[in-house]
Amino acid sequence: MAEDKDLRYDPAAIEPKWQERWAADPALYAAEPVDGGKPKYYVLEMLPYPSGQLHMGHVRNYSIGDALARHMWMRGYNVLHPMGWDAFGLPAENAALKNNTPPREWTLANIAGMKRQFNRLGMGFDWATEVTTCLPDYYRWNQWFFLRMYERGLAYRKKSKVNWCPDCATVLANEQVIDGRCWRHEDTIVEQRDLVQWFFRITAYAQELLDGLDKLDGWPDKVRTMQRNWIGRSEGTEVEFAVENRHEKIRVFTTRIDTIFGATSVQLAPEYPLVTALAESDAGLKVQVARLLEEQKKAREEGDVGAIEKHGVPTGHFAINPYSGELVPVWVANYVLTDYGTGAIMSVPGHDARDFEFAKKFAIPIRRVIAPAVSTDEEPELPFLADDGVLVNSGKFDGLSCEDATKRLQQIAAEKKFGEATITFRLKDWGVSRQRYWGTPIPMIHCETDGLVAVPDDQLPVILPEQVEITQQGGSPLGRVPDFVNVTCPKCGGPARRETDTMDTFVDSSWYFYRYTDAKNADRPFDPAVAQYWFPIDQYIGGVEHAILHLIYSRFWTKVMRDLGLISNDEPARRLFTQGMVIKDGAKMSKSKGNVVSPDDMVARYGADAARMYSLFAAPPDRDLDWQEDGVAGVSRFLGRVYRFTMKYATIARTAQGQPVGAPRGVALKLLRKLHQTIAKITLDFEGRWHFNTCVAAIMELMNELQAADAQLASGEVPAAVIHELLRSLVLMVAPFAPHLAAELWEELGGEGEVLRAPWPKSNPDLAKEDELEIPVQVNGKLVTVVRVPTDAGSDAIQAAALAEEKVKSRTAGKTVAKIIVVPGKLVNLVVR
Ligand SMILES: [Zn+2]
Ligand SMILES: [Zn+2]
Repeated sequence: MAEDKDLRYDPAAIEPKWQERWAADPALYAAEPVDGGKPKYYVLEMLPYPSGQLHMGHVRNYSIGDALARHMWMRGYNVLHPMGWDAFGLPAENAALKNNTPPREWTLANIAGMKRQFNRLGMGFDWATEVTTCLPDYYRWNQWFFLRMYERGLAYRKKSKVNWCPDCATVLANEQVIDGRCWRHEDTIVEQRDLVQWFFRITAYAQELLDGLDKLDGWPDKVRTMQRNWIGRSEGTEVEFAVENRHEKIRVFTTRIDTIFGATSVQLAPEYPLVTALAESDAGLKVQVARLLEEQKKAREEGDVGAIEKHGVPTGHFAINPYSGELVPVWVANYVLTDYGTGAIMSVPGHDARDFEFAKKFAIPIRRVIAPAVSTDEEPELPFLADDGVLVNSGKFDGLSCEDATKRLQQIAAEKKFGEATITFRLKDWGVSRQRYWGTPIPMIHCETDGLVAVPDDQLPVILPEQVEITQQGGSPLGRVPDFVNVTCPKCGGPARRETDTMDTFVDSSWYFYRYTDAKNADRPFDPAVAQYWFPIDQYIGGVEHAILHLIYSRFWTKVMRDLGLISNDEPARRLFTQGMVIKDGAKMSKSKGNVVSPDDMVARYGADAARMYSLFAAPPDRDLDWQEDGVAGVSRFLGRVYRFTMKYATIARTAQGQPVGAPRGVALKLLRKLHQTIAKITLDFEGRWHFNTCVAAIMELMNELQAADAQLASGEVPAAVIHELLRSLVLMVAPFAPHLAAELWEELGGEGEVLRAPWPKSNPDLAKEDELEIPVQVNGKLVTVVRVPTDAGSDAIQAAALAEEKVKSRTAGKTVAKIIVVPGKLVNLVVR
């Protein structure tokens, strides 16, 4: 087809035109009132941090969500598709240090810029519900929730060992420490410090967070497994060993109480209180313990206590096995942590690899107490790790299975009150204190007379002051703002000091999606009735890097809000999709690698539609996408073909608007068949399979068939009503992927209203059906060939066709065909003897 100059596809003209129209019609992408009677669909992409620039990962994430939202609008749903800004956090402070721009100014300017980018990409967000987490109308509710949690004992203060990033100059949550390094500073080793910190008692929900995962079958297994491991439930037993000639008792946690007769030592963490007490009166021990502690600290900082070179030292004291009365030596060891379990373990070298290694090294006795359930000629080597054996060398418990022994031993511990069956979790309470400026102020007051006093609700929000000198030392910057710090105690009216820590920014993202449902509410975080309508989120979309941080915190927050009576859902999102990364030349895009592709450049060169469609076409959405500019250019050329072809026949198509296609034949039927097969495929994909890459490929195939039939369309061989049906449906299917082009062509075809409100095309199964089917033919259960028959062929005709096949003839020659089984449309099987 010769290029017609007048029909040049020019996204630089088409796209801004539609963006202006959309901006002038805020109702277009707005959620409708909850009582409108339509089914609801809440599609949500994770909100970005306003760094100043959207990157290609964003473009991909939001292209997926926007395509889905558009599709659901066309399916007649009341769609909520909001956007906001995760706007608190360190980069704003770092930028302030670097450029001397106040964090608020920097952040709001970035938001304005990124919003422009979103609009230039043609994303269909409901900006009326925009949430900006750094503004008081939002963060006051963080404070309100904090106070509700404080009242219920879910927010509390304790001194604890914290992860401290010297670069961030703040505390990090365990989840923000990756291989001993800061999650923001890959090269910075995280230190351990003792500080009084605020915590959220997420562990109160540990079991529920774990159980809930079983019901989240719309979440990727990978994410659920990561959460299960993070929560880390283990069943076991706590028992007390008395210490000989002293009043202290050592409480150990073990998952293998059945092996307790094989305990040949008790091992304590260097910071265990008894160790501190013993070291006080033993200068030699004190030095050695200090060394062990130093080794442990170093291993923690390197992020791998599990791989520590194990050292220990005997205290010279003995503990008493509560079941046997046996005296075992008490050791201090560098691999035992105070904050894991009870800080004390019983060491069973015969049946634990780590204990075995330690016992060998320090010549501690090794004893067999478990034998294989089925006796063998040779005794298995130690350590013998099976937990389905029977007890030996265990006094009156000999011969019991591990399982039965565990029950008996737990029972005895409970009766004699020296222990009990327990469940422990790896999950720790969520440390939320940050000694940073750009976050939500914690709404608490320290009074000399009254101690900790909560800020009364009617004094919220506690406003974050704006004129603050930001430095990277000396604790929280808020501590240096007298107007902020000095307050009147709400209880006694005396002078008091405000808490100067701010909240972890993961607080902001734990509930932002509830605020979207009622973003302007000045009296409450949101109206429960409105949230009830929209929740749970039908589809949540974001990066898998949030599998344990954000996605556990937000599940916790949902359960807390439910228990506050604000919502009735147990989980925030029914379905979760984690898209792959966008890479270039095999590596993640990053400034340091110089392989960053700017969305603005792509849009300027090829248009938003091409950039968006390419990001869906180039890889299945859950896989990594290797960005190729050639590919974007290819998609742009394809959109050009759609544009020119549709424009060429738009006038003819319009004349047949609303006419039925009748009983098409020949090439018209062939084209309609391809069309309805394509509709069926894309509809199915939007319903959950999400192979958007193959959806785009299917539209391309359809386009190829249309172009191949150009002569027949031009000659009038294909009726105008069929042309109308073909082009109209083509445009509707393109709409979720390339919304500007679709809007333009919809108008050209004389479509009514916005293409976004046009009903999604329905696949007609009769038209989609092929005239011929391929049916596999088996001989004695083995596939020998396939036979082509008309789709409506009956059993006899299929059987005859199968027997006429050369391959079937040769396999049956000289034999008896005992039976022929025909499953119409599916299969022929010949039983031959
Ligand atoms: Zn850091
Ligand atoms: Zn007071």
